[in-house]
Amino acid sequence: MTRKIAAGNWKMNGLRASVEEARAIASGADGCTVVICPPATLLVPMSALGVALGGQYCHASTSGAHTGDISAPMLADAGATWCITGHSERRADHGESDADVRAQTEAAWSVGLTAILCLGETLAQREAGETLDVLRSQMDGSLPSGATPDNTVIAYEPVWAIGTGKVATPDQVAEVHDALRARVGPGFSLLYGGSVKAGNAADLFALDNVDGALVGGASLAAADFLPIVKALA
Ligand code: PEP
Repeated sequence: MTRKIAAGNWKMNGLRASVEEARAIASGADGCTVVICPPATLLVPMSALGVALGGQYCHASTSGAHTGDISAPMLADAGATWCITGHSERRADHGESDADVRAQTEAAWSVGLTAILCLGETLAQREAGETLDVLRSQMDGSLPSGATPDNTVIAYEPVWAIGTGKVATPDQVAEVHDALRARVGPGFSLLYGGSVKAGNAADLFALDNVDGALVGGASLAAADFLPIVKALA
């Protein structure tokens, strides 16, 4: 049995007043695992809400001279039990390589965080017919050999679908998720991410190898996120 997971990536959004929105999400979160990944500043204020929390990134080292960074032990100390690794915005904006993502994923595991490891092709790579090759190479480079269904969830997030309103078609998602399933085997939860909304979630969740979603924009408000959670539960 794979876990059904609806994870919200709040990115660089949210002030302390947003804790009330997270409270509304937590109170309606039922029937599947719901994870909120807020900015690190909101982990402690959200830690008593009764919803699972995640970081959006962690450094590969546990501490040290890395101004502005955050470590996996700090996330765990603040109440996180999950951590996104390899998000395409980190790969693009911060030059994170597959090797970096692999090391960060191992750092997350070292303190008991479950990694949500993100993979995905750019539009140019899809148009060149390279999607499955790109994903194979990202899996080879960034998924550590100790991955298990308990410590790792894989999120397929086509870069061209993130924050664009262009959701991948069910056929496109099925092709990739079937390939990922063949690669990792049963048990691993496979999430789709990229412009998931209440209106398209049910079609995506109906696919055999889609076990949930990583949701950005539509996870910020309970009114948008809870219908997605309900479609999965
Ligand atoms: C994301 O950033 O992980 C994401 C899927 O964003 P959105 O849902 O806004 O496309």
